[in-house]
Amino acid sequence: MRPATAASCAGRGNLVANPCRYGERMIAIAPPEIEDKRRRFPGSFSVAVLASVLLVFLASIGLAMGLFLLSANDIDRSGLDTQTQRVAHALAIQLQQLPREQSSVTIWDDAVRAIADGDNGWLDSNIGSWMYEYFQHDISLIYTKGAIAPALAWDEGSQVELSALADDYPPLRPLVEELRMLASRGYADTPPQISDFVDLPTGPALVSLTPVVTDSGRLAVRAGDEPVLVSIVNLDLDYELRLIDKYLVDAGRFTTEPPTNHEANLPVTNRAGRIVTFFQWEAYRPGELMLRSTAPALVGVILLVSGMLTVLLIGLWRSSRALEGRRNEAERLANQDALTGLPNRLSFEAQFQRALDAPRRSSLGLLMLDLDRFKQVNDTLGHQAGDTLIRSMAFRLSALLRPGEVIGRLGGDEFALMARRRRTELQALATEIIESVRLPFRLEGTDAFVGVSIGVVVLEADETDQLDIMRRADIALYEAKASGRNRAVFYDGAMDERVQGRHRIEAELREALASTDQLWVAYQPLFRADSSRPVGAEALVRWKHPRLGQVPPAEFIGVAETSGLIEALGEYVLRETCRMGARWPGRSFAVNVSAAQFRHPGFGAHVLDVLHDAGMQAQDLELEITESILLDEQAAVVENLRTLHLANVRLAIDDFGTGYSSLNYLRRYPVDRIKIDRSFVAQVADIGSSRPIVEAMVRLTDALGIEVTAEGVETREQFERLREMGCTTFQGYLFGAPLRAEELERLWAPSGVAQVA
Ligand code: C2E
Ligand code: CA
Ligand code: CA
Repeated sequence: MRPATAASCAGRGNLVANPCRYGERMIAIAPPEIEDKRRRFPGSFSVAVLASVLLVFLASIGLAMGLFLLSANDIDRSGLDTQTQRVAHALAIQLQQLPREQSSVTIWDDAVRAIADGDNGWLDSNIGSWMYEYFQHDISLIYTKGAIAPALAWDEGSQVELSALADDYPPLRPLVEELRMLASRGYADTPPQISDFVDLPTGPALVSLTPVVTDSGRLAVRAGDEPVLVSIVNLDLDYELRLIDKYLVDAGRFTTEPPTNHEANLPVTNRAGRIVTFFQWEAYRPGELMLRSTAPALVGVILLVSGMLTVLLIGLWRSSRALEGRRNEAERLANQDALTGLPNRLSFEAQFQRALDAPRRSSLGLLMLDLDRFKQVNDTLGHQAGDTLIRSMAFRLSALLRPGEVIGRLGGDEFALMARRRRTELQALATEIIESVRLPFRLEGTDAFVGVSIGVVVLEADETDQLDIMRRADIALYEAKASGRNRAVFYDGAMDERVQGRHRIEAELREALASTDQLWVAYQPLFRADSSRPVGAEALVRWKHPRLGQVPPAEFIGVAETSGLIEALGEYVLRETCRMGARWPGRSFAVNVSAAQFRHPGFGAHVLDVLHDAGMQAQDLELEITESILLDEQAAVVENLRTLHLANVRLAIDDFGTGYSSLNYLRRYPVDRIKIDRSFVAQVADIGSSRPIVEAMVRLTDALGIEVTAEGVETREQFERLREMGCTTFQGYLFGAPLRAEELERLWAPSGVAQVA
C-alpha cells in the first residue's frame, strides 16, 4: 500500500542523534495546549509540597505559642487571685485587729476615772502616746458622754488642739452615735465595737470605735453614756509600708487613681458596701516571668528549627525541581522529534485526535508528505547533509502554517500536516509547499534539488477515525508518487478500489511466480533498416492468469516493483531470455530491468552468473533501463554499471525522451542504445509533430556513437519518416508483435527470413 519508506530513511539513526538547530523556533510552533501544559507544570508540585510543609510548620509554631501564652496567662490569673485573696485577708484582719488593740486600754477603771477626772497627764501617757507608739494609731480621740465632738485628741502620739482636727469629726459623728445606740441596748462583759473604712477629709482611713468601760464593775455608768475612744489609722504610706512588711504584699498603695497595666486592684469597701478607696499593688505575674525567662530560649529553638527546616525545604525544593525538570524533559523528548523539534508521530497523532474530537471543529485537512529523492541526497552528500535537509524542510513547512495547524515528523523524510482549511485552500497550501520545496537547499556547499509528494485528505465534518484518515492520506500519497512525484493528489474513493486491486494482483502474482504455467516470456523482434536480417528481440513478460486471463504488464509490473516481487519476476525473465540467447549467439536479446532491481548491490554480478549458467555470450545481452536510474548516481547503480560494462553487457535507455531533459548521463555512462519512446514515434508522421525533437535526439546520439531504436512503429509512414531522420533500428507491430519463443525461432529459421511488410 505505501512505498517502502523505511528504505528511504537510512539516515534516521544518525538524524536523531544530532542536536536541533531550529529547536527554539520549532517549539514556538507547538500548539497552545502543549505550550500551556509546559508552562503550568514546572514547580507546581514543589510549590504545593513546600507550601503545605511551611503552613504546617507555621501553624504548629502558632499553636505552641498560643498554648504557651494561654497557660502563662492562666498562671498569672491564678497568681493574681491568690494575691487578691491575701490582700483582702490582710485588710479584713486589720479591721479586726484595731478594736482588739483598743480593748487593751478601754476596759480599765483607771481610764474611766482619768476621763471623768480630766487627768490629761495619765490619758496622754496611757492612751494618746501609748496607742501611737505601741500600735501606730495615727489619731486617737476621746468623746465624753453625749458629746458630738471629741474632748481630747492625739495626732501621732502628741495631744493637739481640737480645732486642728475639726474637719475630721463630722464623718465620725454617725459612727459615734451608732456605737452609743448599740451600747445603750446593753451588753454583758464586752461592750460593742465598730470598725470600718472611712473616707476622711485627710484621706481614707481605718477607724475603730470602742466605749471606755470599767474592768472591776465598780465604775459602771449607764449603758450608752460611756466615753468613746476613736482610733484612726490613715491608709497612707506609713500604713502601706506596714502592710507590705507584715503581709508580704508587693508594693501596695491605697489610691483612687485608675490602676496601670501591671497593677492589681482591690476595691476597699465600708460596711455599707461603698467603695472607700482601692488597694493597688504591683501584681506578681509568674506566667509572664516564665515567658520572659524562657522566651529567648524559645525564640532560639524556633529559629534553629526554622533554619533546619529551611535548609531541608531548600533541598527538597531543589531536588523536586530537578525531578520535575527531568520529567518535563523526558515528556518533551517523548513528544518531540529530536532532529527538527517538531512533534513526533506520537505527539502529532495525539494532537490530531484532539482536533478530531473537538466539539465544534473548523474545516480540517490532512496532508501526508514524503520527500522525493531524499535517499539520493543522503547517499551522495552524506547523512549530515540529509539531516540539514530535513531540518530545513521542517523550517520551510512550519513557515506555511496558520495558528492551530500542526506539522509533525513521522520519521525519515515523512511529514504530516493537519491544516484547518477548506478544500480550495488545501489545494493552495499543497501548491505552496511544492513551490517552497522546489527551491534549492544549500547542503555541503552545493545546491540540492528535491521534490515533495503529497497525499491530501479533505475531512468530513463528523469524521473522527484517525487511522482511516491516515490510511487514505497514505493511499493518496502513493498515487502522487506513482503518478510521477512532486505533486499533490487528493484522495478519492476510486483509489481504494485501485489499492484493493493492487493487493489482489500482488497475491495472485505471488502465486503465479510459484506456479510453472502462468508466466512466460514473449519476444518482440528488432529490425535494422539497412538489412532484412533480424538483429534481435526484446523480452517482454507475459502473464496468463487462469481466471483473469491475460494480465498486461502495465497492471502488475508496478505492483511487483513496490511489493518486492520484481526481483523474482526479473530473474525469471532474465533466465528464460538467457536460455534463448544461448541458442542464438550473435543475436541481441534485450531484457527490461526495473530501477528497484538495478539499485540492488550485486545485481551486475548476478546477471553475469545467470549468463554463465545459461551459456549465453555477455555481448548478446542488452539491459533496458530508464533514465531515472542513471540520474540517481547511487553507489550501487554505478558499481552495477561498471561490472556489466566490463563484461560487455550492453545498455539501452528505454522510453527515451519521457523523463528528464538533462542528457549529461549519456556522456558519463557507457550507453549503447536509446529507444525513442512510442509517444514520439506515434506523432512523427503528423504536421507540427514531434519531428524536431526526434531529429535532435538522433543528432545527439549520432555524435556520441549511440545507436537509436524507434519503438512502437505501427505504420509504414512512421517507418519512412524515422528512417529519413536517421533511426537505424526499429521495433513495432509493423515489423512484428511480441511472439512466443517457438514462433520467434520459426521466424528466425534460415527459411523464414523476415520481410518488411
Ligand atoms: P516497454 O519496455 O516500452 O515495452 C514495449 C511495449 O510496447 C510492450 O508492451 C509491447 O508489447 C508494446 N509494443 C510493441 N510494439 C508496439 C506497437 O507497434 N504499438 C504499441 N502500441 N505497442 C507496442 P508490454 O509488453 O505491454 O509491456 C509494457 C511495459 O512493461 C514495457 O514497456 C516494460 O516497461 C514493462 N515490461 C514488460 N516486460 C517486462 C519485464 O520482463 N521486466 C520489466 N522490468 N518490465 C517489463
Ligand atoms: Ca523495453
Ligand atoms: Ca519502451
